[in-house]
Amino acid sequence: LSREEMAELLKSLSGKILITTHKNPDGDAIGSSVGWRNFLKKLGKNVKVILRDRIPYFFDFIPGINDVEVREEISEEFDWVIITDVSEAKRTGFESLPAKRSIVIDHHITAEPFSDYYIVEPEISSTCELSYHIMKLIDESLIDRNVALPIYTGIVTDTGSFSYTNTSPETHHVASELIKRGAEPYLVRRNIFERNRINRFKLLELVLRTLEFALEGRVAHITVYKRFLEETKAYPEETEGFINYPRSIEGVEVAVFFKEIEEGKWKVSLRSKGSVNVAFVAKRFGGGGHVMAAGFETEGNLEDIKKDLFRELQVEFDKISKL
Ligand code: 5GP
Ligand code: MN
Ligand code: MN
Repeated sequence: LSREEMAELLKSLSGKILITTHKNPDGDAIGSSVGWRNFLKKLGKNVKVILRDRIPYFFDFIPGINDVEVREEISEEFDWVIITDVSEAKRTGFESLPAKRSIVIDHHITAEPFSDYYIVEPEISSTCELSYHIMKLIDESLIDRNVALPIYTGIVTDTGSFSYTNTSPETHHVASELIKRGAEPYLVRRNIFERNRINRFKLLELVLRTLEFALEGRVAHITVYKRFLEETKAYPEETEGFINYPRSIEGVEVAVFFKEIEEGKWKVSLRSKGSVNVAFVAKRFGGGGHVMAAGFETEGNLEDIKKDLFRELQVEFDKISKL
């Protein structure tokens, strides 16, 4: 749907509305789902946010976050489900979403539409920025601080504080409007980036010792084993941002972060400086994402996973060198 059509559809919704987002929720996932909750509630709708995975502690400043339920499955029936920041059904983490009709609001280039209605804008910085435009078309007087703060938060986290290539003049314009409506930039920064626990640094110390290079220094990779989390009593979400260390090295084109979820199960995060489209690489392994940030989940032995991944990355480097 177009933004206008999506606005009309959302305005017309009736009955019980479920909102959900992707597992291991990031700022854009939390910001868009809770932002829509606060907005639609103000519009008089019956809405409930249910997520599959625990909410990282540093999002606890977001208005409405305490009403979000975290569950392994959803048993009750809804009339509608709104799924934000999700490009494929399995990314919600739920086996099934019991709703008569489904709506997706997303911005991934690898999006594979799986809902009755959807809007996907791969060019936009974040699901939150897209959501702001749609909300404005519905009724801009409803965008108060409770809506502006979560939406602003998602834009900040998905743009790396307005510094990734997905940051456009329009992104800054939307941020300006959100600040006018009550979003406080430093409140967001203080909560998201300045509440580190010492455990996170202990974990970083262990993870940085795993730093290795591949493909002649163009790839740098780090690994977090489950035992590191146990040893340092760190939370899984406290690895957020670690991948920026290998990416920040001169000469590195692609950074990789291998995270052991459980024995033989891995989450792989990819970051590019632009020469390689890591979304397409991730897609070959059943994942997806954006040109410069992508990921996938896989099973097996870490050495085999590395070999398969580096082979695919080599193919991409060969393509560039032929240009
Ligand atoms: P992160 O590495 O921070 O978890 O994710 C970076 C980006 O890659 C996110 O925008 C996310 O959408 C995408 N991504 C990460 N993991 C997966 C995955 O397992 N499947 C898909 N489709 N996308 C992923
Ligand atoms: Mn996300
Ligand atoms: Mn996003």
